[in-house]
Formats: sequence, C-alpha cells, structure tokens
Amino acid sequence: MSDTAPGAEDRDLLVIGGGIAGMTAAIEAAEAGCRVVLVERSPSLGGRVAQMHRYFPKLCPPWCGLEINYRRIRTNAGITVLTGAEVQSIAGPPGAYAVTVAVRPRHVTDTCTMCGACPAVCPAERPDDFNCGLKRTKAIYLPHAMAFPPIYAIDRRACAAECDACVRACRYEAIDLAQPPRTRTFRVAGVVAATGWAPYDAARIDNLGFGRHANVITNVMMERLAASDGPTAGRLVRPSDGAEPRTVAFVQCAGSRDENHLPYCSGVCCAASLKQVTYLRTRYPQARIAIFYIDIRTPGTLEDFYAAVTADNDIELVKGKVARVEEDEATRDLVVTAEDVMTATRITRRVNLLVLATGIVPQSAGLPDSFAVDEFGFIANRDRGTGLVGAGCVRWPQEVSATVQDATGAALRGWRAVVRSARG
Ligand SMILES: Cc1cc2nc3c(=O)[nH]c(=O)nc-3n(C[C@H](O)[C@H](O)[C@H](O)COP(=O)(O)OP(=O)(O)OC[C@H]3O[C@@H](n4cnc5c(N)ncnc54)[C@H](O)[C@@H]3O)c2cc1C
Repeated sequence: MSDTAPGAEDRDLLVIGGGIAGMTAAIEAAEAGCRVVLVERSPSLGGRVAQMHRYFPKLCPPWCGLEINYRRIRTNAGITVLTGAEVQSIAGPPGAYAVTVAVRPRHVTDTCTMCGACPAVCPAERPDDFNCGLKRTKAIYLPHAMAFPPIYAIDRRACAAECDACVRACRYEAIDLAQPPRTRTFRVAGVVAATGWAPYDAARIDNLGFGRHANVITNVMMERLAASDGPTAGRLVRPSDGAEPRTVAFVQCAGSRDENHLPYCSGVCCAASLKQVTYLRTRYPQARIAIFYIDIRTPGTLEDFYAAVTADNDIELVKGKVARVEEDEATRDLVVTAEDVMTATRITRRVNLLVLATGIVPQSAGLPDSFAVDEFGFIANRDRGTGLVGAGCVRWPQEVSATVQDATGAALRGWRAVVRSARG
C-alpha cells in the first residue's frame, strides 16, 4: 500500500482496544502477514481480563493466557503497540483509511527497569482505577502487576506542582516530565474496533443500595478483593471493617434484563457469580451463600460448572427479584428483601456482604462514528466491504473463549480488506 495521506505511516490494519479481543485480532492478523497498529487507551494491554482473579470454568488465573499473548506481541515485529492512545478520526475511502491517533505522554520511557525507586519517593497519590478505587497508588505507578509494556506511567493530574522527586530518584534517566502529547496518522486498509465493556453503574440501581451501603459491592470489585495482587492481597473481606464475611448474597441481573437499565442479558454474569462462589467457598468453608436470580443462564458446557458449584448444600438459590436492600446501622449488615416466585412469599435474608452481578455496557461511545452501533451501543458487525469490523464484548456480551473466536474472525475480515485493497 502506498503512503498518500501526508505524513501518514503505512500499515495494513489498525486495531482499537488492547483487551483479549484486540490482542487476539492484532496477533492473528500479524501472524498471517499483516502490519498492525494496536491502539490502547489505558497505559497497559490486557483489558478487563487482567482484573480477574480466576477464569471460569477452569478457574485458572488469567496471567498465563495474557503472558502468551504478550510474548506473541513482543516477538512479532509486525505489531506496533501504542498505549495511552485513542483514535481521533477515520477518514478516506474503504481500503485506504487515514486514521489519526492521539498519544498521551506516559512520561516514562522504555529504559524503565521497574526498580521501584520512583514510587518510593513520590509524595502524591491517585485513586487506583484498576482496583475499582479500593486502594490508591502513587502518581507514578505500575498499571498492574502484569502490565504490558512493563514500565511505570505518571498521572500528571495527581502530581504536586514543581515536584521532580521521581526524576531525581531514577538512575536510568527513564523519566521525562516534559514529554509532549503526539498525534500520529496511519494509512490502513481496515480497522477492528475491540473496545470491550464497562460495568453498568450500580449506583443507578437505587433499590440495591450501592454507594450508600459500604458492604454492597459489584462483581468486578469482588474480583479485585479476591486477587492476590488486589487491594487486600487476596483477603476476601468486607469493605466497612475488614471483617471476614460469614454470610454473603449475590444479586443477579443487577441492571440487566431491566427496561429501566439494560434491557438485554449481559451473558456472563451468572457464570461469574458461580465462579465467585468458589472464591468464597475456598476461603470460608463454613460461609452461607444465597443467590437471588431471575433465571440462571449457563449455556453449553457451563451447565456442568453450574451443577458442580450448586451441589453445595450451603448455597441457597432464590428465584426472585430483589425489591430492596437496607443496612443495619449497628452491624453494617445488609437486609435483603425479595419475592420468592417459587413459593410466592416475600423473604428477607441478613448478610455480611452483598455482591451485585452488574451487567456489561459496550464501550463504543469514544469510537469514530464510522462504526454503526445498535440501540444499546453494541457494534453492528456488518462491514459490507468497508473493512470496519467489531470484535469481542463491544459486539455483544461474551466470555473469553467466545471473544477469542470472534476476534479471530475479525482478523480474517481485516485480512480480506487488506487483500481487496492490494488488488485495487
Ligand atoms: C464480573 C465478570 C467476571 C468475568 N469472568 C470471566 C471468566 O471468569 N471467564 C470468562 O471467560 N469471561 C469472564 N468475563 C467476561 C470477560 O471479561 C470478557 O469476555 C472479556 O473482558 C472481553 O474482552 P474484550 O477485549 O472484548 O474487552 P475488554 O476486556 O473490555 O478490553 C477492551 C480494551 O479496550 C480498551 N478501550 C476501550 N475503549 C477504547 C478506546 N476508545 N480506544 C482505545 N482503547 C479502548 C480498554 O481500555 C480495554 O483495554 C467476566 C465478566 C464479568 C463482568
């Protein structure tokens, strides 16, 4: 492909989003011979999978899968990774797009060895978004334990004015506080959008008490509380007092399948809660657990996972929507009231900790409007020869193995756009 947009760098495919879908699409296309740019908004690849403590159904940690993908990226000269980067515009005809990418300064270069001298002297802090705000990091921070690229980043909004303590502490001269933002333009035949999902804002579900009651948490917070590199170093305790919970309830469809919130099924939350039951059972063999659900949806082989987890006699499955959640001010316990549809009675359960299985919201809002989305914001994947393709959870809610298959299909569509463009 020739470089006609002024100053544009010539590549074949651009992938937006460096989660499991984006990494897979980039790797599969590059291993088939494409030159790929992978654009990730945050300072590290990995996406939401990096936040998980374990994967269902095998319950293995996510690190091995991520590390294999990182290695495939590291060793493939055909992939350019841009972190802290976002696509600003896509212009031009199909097969010859000019894609403009804004790259924020990281202020730390790749001579960083992760020695840890800089956070030790940094006087400023910021909320740790990777850990759902359950802890804070220094203004100079490692995005997470398995960050790729494995170097620190600086959140300049958190820095104290005139402070250069990290620069003075770094003996590798890896810190450049004056690094400017950059804009780069790529000429490509196709673009894969793999921008993934965010959890539904639980504070909007008024009757479930999130944000008002400290011991009501979301399923993503639960992943971080269970993780050994998380805010409690894997001690699964309740936020208000650090106590070990003896009674825990899960509320399924927290926001999903609800016309006032997300009318669709978020697909993965039932299996995610069952997985989180195993975290609790491993740490607290005596814990009593209740799951409030509308329907349990565990398609395919996940049905075996459902059967195995719920064979436990100390798990109560309650088919019914939760009407309200109140806090006992003295103990900070939660009192959950629901309608049990099997017995047609109103029931209450008092628990130490309540986990909301919040749904999946597609992250298509920041994408250029070249990508068509449906009424919920999911990308409608009809590239119709445009070479603009969606992949992963921004297309529909899906678990990791389905995401990987979807992203491989997106890489193939991207490859087709490259071939079409080469043929003119
Ligand atoms: C509570 C919970 C637990 C789960 N547990 C499991 C499990 O155990 N097993 C399993 O198989 N699945 C699980 N899932 C599903 C799993 O999280 C998804 O399948 C997976 O994250 C989908 O990957 P993705 O790449 O599509 O999206 P993401 O993981 O969301 O990655 C998207 C990436 O795109 C980046 N991005 C977003 N917008 C932009 C932009 N405008 N520009 C550049 N970059 C951008 C993001 O920063 C992110 O890195 C779980 C889901 C939930 C809700």
